[in-house]
Amino acid sequence: MKVAVIGLGAIGVQILWQLSRQDYVEVQGFDTAYPGHSMAGAGGDSRLFWNLELAELAYTPLIQRAAVAWRELETVSGAVLRDQTGVLVYGDEGDAQLDCAVNSADLIGSPIKLLSVSELRKRFPQFRFTEKSLGIWDQEGAVILPERTVAVTGEIARYNGATIHEFAPVFSIDPSGPRITVTSRIGTQEFDRVVVACGGWTTKLLPHIRDEVVVRRLTSMWFHGGDDNYLTDFPPFLRAAPSYCYGVPSHDARSVKLGLGFNDHYVTGDADSLPRHLTGEALEEQLSKFEWIQQKMLPGLARRPYRVETYVESYTRSMIEYIHRHPENENVVIMTGFSGHGFRVAPVLGEIGCQIALEGKSDIDISFMERTEPAFTILDKEQGITTHNSVMNSRGA
Ligand SMILES: Cc1cc2nc3c(=O)[nH]c(=O)nc-3n(C[C@H](O)[C@H](O)[C@H](O)COP(=O)(O)OP(=O)(O)OC[C@H]3O[C@@H](n4cnc5c(N)ncnc54)[C@H](O)[C@@H]3O)c2cc1C
Repeated sequence: MKVAVIGLGAIGVQILWQLSRQDYVEVQGFDTAYPGHSMAGAGGDSRLFWNLELAELAYTPLIQRAAVAWRELETVSGAVLRDQTGVLVYGDEGDAQLDCAVNSADLIGSPIKLLSVSELRKRFPQFRFTEKSLGIWDQEGAVILPERTVAVTGEIARYNGATIHEFAPVFSIDPSGPRITVTSRIGTQEFDRVVVACGGWTTKLLPHIRDEVVVRRLTSMWFHGGDDNYLTDFPPFLRAAPSYCYGVPSHDARSVKLGLGFNDHYVTGDADSLPRHLTGEALEEQLSKFEWIQQKMLPGLARRPYRVETYVESYTRSMIEYIHRHPENENVVIMTGFSGHGFRVAPVLGEIGCQIALEGKSDIDISFMERTEPAFTILDKEQGITTHNSVMNSRGA
């Protein structure tokens, strides 16, 4: 059986690897660039792997299986793909997301430690906590090395016999025949099955999903500590809504990368025509969105970032993965909309994508994805304009 995987980012490369392990499959992967590049949704040195769920308890079995799938990927590749640091999840007592996180840890049996405000202050003096702050230390949380993970997974897929077409953007997919025609920079080919995993570019290839999936440009900013020791023993952290934000310290403990939630991302309907390099007023405007973190949370950071980068991510209305077969041809599987949390579950999404492509269904129960309530409404699907999203809401805005 001949299978194409279009898009070899965080998710596509995992699907490619899983398909490459099947004896009867000849798998080919296509990417605009190459596995492990930093221009799409998987760049920027780090991604959080946390075992808790902040919004949707039904999601927890996926996280549980992901932990196993990560270990398998690390064993098979023999590479270090995550730093086992632990992750701090915190917010104010009574925040719905914190309650959900504690419940999800119970369900998964994930080792956590609850931290009172005095324990938080003692252990993490860099933060300005409020009297109502409550922390959850996710002991098995980790920091993923995203570019390395994608590149290494591509290599083990290649070792198994997968063909990887680098710098081979796919221009169109014709699902009308029994076999699927894929036209890319290297020509036109036919496949028995096609998996589309182009992240924020998926809506360009398959515009019919614009009713469910929107694209955002995310900005990451790297700040040094104001003094050299400010970030010593600083944890990777995720702060719950309504003050959603996250941070990952650098290996040398001299700087931290910060990111914000959905409502602060740049709205777009087209991942190709986005301004990606921020200068002048656009940079000033983005900086202003991060200022509250220095003012209210991390007062010891340097005033200005030393590095600013942008990335592209796709979001579903439910903030839960979009995994569907094409309405015109069930041999085309579409996987996108990982809504800011796809990397931590990427290896298990690889298993799911492989199973659906080959068997039409997965033995991992993802039926909850159909039942999850929308977190926002799409007001203009061409421009990607939506209503406010309370799930990843920064600053209570
Ligand atoms: C700044 C930022 C921080 C994040 N933090 C976290 C985190 O801490 N933890 C976490 O779990 N998740 C996090 N995420 C989410 C996670 O990184 C994404 O969910 C994940 O990268 C999405 O994977 P993807 O495969 O859908 O898209 P991508 O990783 O963007 O991959 C899409 C690929 O498709 C290729 N492509 C596009 N168009 C075509 C085409 N026409 N033909 C061929 N190839 C094409 C691109 O080149 C790219 O390689 C974060 C995302 C961002 C942007």
